[in-house]
Amino acid sequence: TQSTRPQRLLGAVQKNATRGQPHSVLKAIDQFCTHTEWAMNVGDEKGCILDSVVSEVNPATVLELGTYCGYSTVRIASLLPPHAKLITLEFNPDFAAIARQVIAWAGLEDKVQLVEGASGDWIPKMKEQFGITTFDFVFLDHWKDRYLPDTKLMEECGLLRKGTVLLADNVICPGTPDYLEYIRNSPRYKSQYFKSHLEYTKVEDGLEKSVFQG
Ligand code: SAM
Ligand code: MG
Repeated sequence: TQSTRPQRLLGAVQKNATRGQPHSVLKAIDQFCTHTEWAMNVGDEKGCILDSVVSEVNPATVLELGTYCGYSTVRIASLLPPHAKLITLEFNPDFAAIARQVIAWAGLEDKVQLVEGASGDWIPKMKEQFGITTFDFVFLDHWKDRYLPDTKLMEECGLLRKGTVLLADNVICPGTPDYLEYIRNSPRYKSQYFKSHLEYTKVEDGLEKSVFQG
């Protein structure tokens, strides 16, 4: 029987990480992806930038676009204050099933609501389905051509407030040129680039932090 990369990544977590210790889960995944198989997690180098932005914002409501195996979900959720809520969207059911187990292994299932489906379908339903007023922090890390339309959709749906922080991964590699052009030139955002490297490589990549001005 053939296994998939996400299944092998989960196996590395179950073998090497301690239940209830998010740091050990992240370490097991980073070890696996550095030494065994590359995978599209934000990784440790950009993950440290993600950590510092999450800590600075100290959000009570978080939206993550693109869960994959739950690496960044664990990273963000482990930094959230008590009673904070992270909603993460994933449209691939096989990835979602793995992510649920990774998040549970880290002991973070009470802070995380993993929602299966496409961002374009769920963003308009956030208020009524999940009782969200606005998000304090949004991590964009799904398919790169969706960053711009989903940002405009979040604006239209009233999910952003003055001070909401958007953090977008992979703005250089694979790259999100239409999103960068919009977010850097719109008077509705103050935007800043954090230079780094593509996960588990030396290729330039970075995160774009953009604060909604209302
Ligand atoms: N944030 C994860 C991490 O750092 O650990 C990695 C996410 S991976 C780069 C992108 C994920 O987004 C994939 O699992 C893909 O299936 C999912 N995805 C892509 N487009 C999506 C969409 N429009 N709605 C929901 N999920 C999407
Ligand atoms: Mg990414």
